[in-house]
Amino acid sequence: MTRLDRLQQHVSDTGRPVRVALVGAGQMGRGLAAQVGRIPGLDLAVAVDVDAGRAADALAAAGHTTPETDTGRAGEALDAGRGLALTSFAALPELDVDVVVEATGVPEIGARVAETAMGGGKHVVMLNVETDVTVGLALADIARRNGVVYSIADGDEPVCAKELVDFAHELAFDVVCAGKGKNNPFIPTATPASCTAEAERKGMNPKMLASFQDGSKTMIEMAALANATGLPPDVVGMHGVTASVPELTRTLVPVADGGVLSAPGRVDYAFGPAPGVFVVVTSDDATVREEMTYLSMGEGPNFVLYRPFHLASIEAPRTIVTTVLDGTPALQAAHWVAEVVAVAKQDLAPGDVLQGIGGDHVRGMTYPAAEADSLLLLGLAEGATVTRPVRAGEPVPADAVEVVDSTIARLRAVQDAAR
Ligand SMILES: [Mg+2]
Repeated sequence: MTRLDRLQQHVSDTGRPVRVALVGAGQMGRGLAAQVGRIPGLDLAVAVDVDAGRAADALAAAGHTTPETDTGRAGEALDAGRGLALTSFAALPELDVDVVVEATGVPEIGARVAETAMGGGKHVVMLNVETDVTVGLALADIARRNGVVYSIADGDEPVCAKELVDFAHELAFDVVCAGKGKNNPFIPTATPASCTAEAERKGMNPKMLASFQDGSKTMIEMAALANATGLPPDVVGMHGVTASVPELTRTLVPVADGGVLSAPGRVDYAFGPAPGVFVVVTSDDATVREEMTYLSMGEGPNFVLYRPFHLASIEAPRTIVTTVLDGTPALQAAHWVAEVVAVAKQDLAPGDVLQGIGGDHVRGMTYPAAEADSLLLLGLAEGATVTRPVRAGEPVPADAVEVVDSTIARLRAVQDAAR
């Protein structure tokens, strides 16, 4: 049966649609809301945003134009199919919803929402990869203990690339490199101020655009892919070659084969093949390699499997369906081979209070996990106070800042203690 058939079966078995609560009604959240509203069997029952108007807009995008705002009347409102627009996620555990989708992109909020929702027995689908690369193992563990599913959402590059990795393994290929394409060169010093005009043109949050331009987003996505697949980054920051899709078979391969990797089995990214994801594969079987060449996949011995698109929030409802119906995540950390470290974008002085991802002070850099031990993680940077100078371009030492007491820092301590 297709996902949609199984969803209909679930609706007729349970007598109601799968109820979805969305936290974070920005660009991603609104796109997801519109899609959920179009899929029979899914109901966007709750939208939460600090901005009440945005929560209401997300519900409207999903077809609910007269939402309730009083949690005291939540039950009637949800049964009547009116939807609930809230400015706080605190009531989520008590609400009669099946799955919570986190789309704020803020590491600390993602950690709080996921822990709160799973503690209340709700499945969690994360569009917030920023949280996952910091405390993904801890959140996966909380899910197991509560008998629910925690998953990163379909549509973003980590999941789309992981699907190709799984496909390659199912076909008995050896994975040489998995990754994503990037369109424009990084601008390591990009800030919200330097992005304002472009962000306005594109209808984007300038902080989010800065996190794309300074490379943080790519680093975060490839770290999530690494921790889900166990394929580590080859070097600090990865290689980031410039290549066309066919050229990936000659660049993101081991040095011994003419490429840049120290060994096969890595995550990386390439400037050029955007907005797609790819896996470079090979086979030790001469017949399989000959077949691949016959099938117009190139001369070998390395071949590239390429998906030329990823549809972000538009694809994310697939994960909502499989999370609820199958109880299996689309992507979840199962290893811990990569960290995203905070690198100074400008000289930092004692007393500076760091802005978070896409802010003025730091950008993300993917590290092999073993090399990041004494460094500040990007996901813990927001609100940290600098205690000694750090030069622009250098990774921020963990002992050069005082991080704030937070849920994500607590979960990270739990995760570290368990390993
Ligand atoms: Mg992405």
